[in-house]
Amino acid sequence: MESAARHHRVLIVGGGAAGITTAHLLRRQRPQLEVAILEPSADHDYQPGWTLVGGSVMRLEQTRRSEASLIPQGVTWIQAAATGFDPEHNAVTNSEGETLHYDVLVLATGLQCRWEQIEGLTDALGSHGVCSNYSRQFAPYTWQSIQAFQGGNAVFTMPATPVKCGGAPQKVMYMADDVFRSKSGVGVNSRVIFCTPLRTLFAVGAYARILQQVVRRRDIEVRFGWELQAVRGEEQVAVFKVSEADGSERTGELPFSMLHAVPPMSAPDVVASSPLAGDGPGGWAAADRLTTQHPRWANVFSLGDVAGLPTSKTAGAVRGEAPVTAANVLSFLEGRPLTAHYDGYTVCPLITGYNNVVMAEFDYSQQPISSFLIDPTRERWSMWLMKTRMLPWLYWNRMLKGLPHEGRYLRPFRPLVHLLRLDYREPSAAQLSAEGEAGSC
Ligand SMILES: Cc1cc2nc3c(=O)[nH]c(=O)nc-3n(C[C@H](O)[C@H](O)[C@H](O)COP(=O)(O)OP(=O)(O)OC[C@H]3O[C@@H](n4cnc5c(N)ncnc54)[C@H](O)[C@@H]3O)c2cc1C
Repeated sequence: MESAARHHRVLIVGGGAAGITTAHLLRRQRPQLEVAILEPSADHDYQPGWTLVGGSVMRLEQTRRSEASLIPQGVTWIQAAATGFDPEHNAVTNSEGETLHYDVLVLATGLQCRWEQIEGLTDALGSHGVCSNYSRQFAPYTWQSIQAFQGGNAVFTMPATPVKCGGAPQKVMYMADDVFRSKSGVGVNSRVIFCTPLRTLFAVGAYARILQQVVRRRDIEVRFGWELQAVRGEEQVAVFKVSEADGSERTGELPFSMLHAVPPMSAPDVVASSPLAGDGPGGWAAADRLTTQHPRWANVFSLGDVAGLPTSKTAGAVRGEAPVTAANVLSFLEGRPLTAHYDGYTVCPLITGYNNVVMAEFDYSQQPISSFLIDPTRERWSMWLMKTRMLPWLYWNRMLKGLPHEGRYLRPFRPLVHLLRLDYREPSAAQLSAEGEAGSC
């Protein structure tokens, strides 16, 4: 009896955006299916809201709900953390010293921010203007730092690893710049600087182009090839590894009055050090890009930030991944072929200032798409309302509950958008690189 209680038909590890959504979808389609969620935290965070907290558009309390209120009825919640994976024996060990067995494992642990990889950052956060929206604890300090800024350098960074929401390191900067401009006297002797180890502002060319226009319009200095290495908080100095276009490297230092730091990210250690990790850096869980199934263990599926899928890590991506994963888990359990395919859909609402958002949707093709039948490559007030008012509501009331996003019904009409985007032309590589160089230092 005891060992039967430790066996689960479907064991979901992680009760964040991906885990909760998948659990709801599974139970909705098979109400009798036995499902357990292994999740240590008593709280669930709406992380996209942290950007809005940093810009004083949302209160921190609005970004958190109790985990208990989100676990679907009939699903067992095991409040503990996974400490080891043994897919050979269909087993997971947890922080309570238990071994859990499963027929199907769904890996949804999210990712790990590697604050410790930036020397001095952990100690510096929360004082001397060093802040980060990537930490629930320090997102409110971002707003305090923006308000306190009286001139000097306001430095915003991006790490070299994949990050959750590739646009979030910039969104905060555009809101901050709006606030700085509204303060009398701040413009004098002040500089907004974006430092990125990459050579472009965004992975998708069409959206990178818009962002180039935004930084130029705002006179923001972009330093491509600049990767944050260390923070000397009390001195207010940030230290960078600078990779020059000719391949040479050097160390660069920037004094700052405000520093918004984004840490490197990886799969959580417990996943990265397990047999479920893929071969590449970061230890992301191996997963087929279409089915989300593990290439070696057919009864293991991964989605959300932890999955090594070649798309941008967002809650919006989960909206595409979860229905596919749930359908394929059911097919696997019922001995049918896995026919549900994920197209790489992801969305990053790029806040380019208060009242303006580029709703950057794309898929594996790396081409802009739109769920709203609009040209997605434009800054829009309507998308600001969508980001700040509608998306939080949709997250709590539709997505997490496994209910389809209304955009699904517009999807078959997406090709129409191309007709509406008569003014848009995909920029050539040469154009983009010229624009990149123009914005860099
Ligand atoms: C500042 C910021 C801005 C963002 N902006 C946007 C945005 O505008 N749009 C957008 O779509 N997305 C955005 N995102 C990204 C989005 O929040 C994530 O992509 C999404 O939450 C991923 O869901 P997940 O379930 O994979 O991970 P999470 O939601 O992080 O959940 C992972 C869960 O796994 C649990 N867990 C961790 N380790 C273990 C373990 N060992 N055992 C068991 N459970 C474990 C955690 O406690 C957590 O509950 C943003 C994120 C941040 C930080």
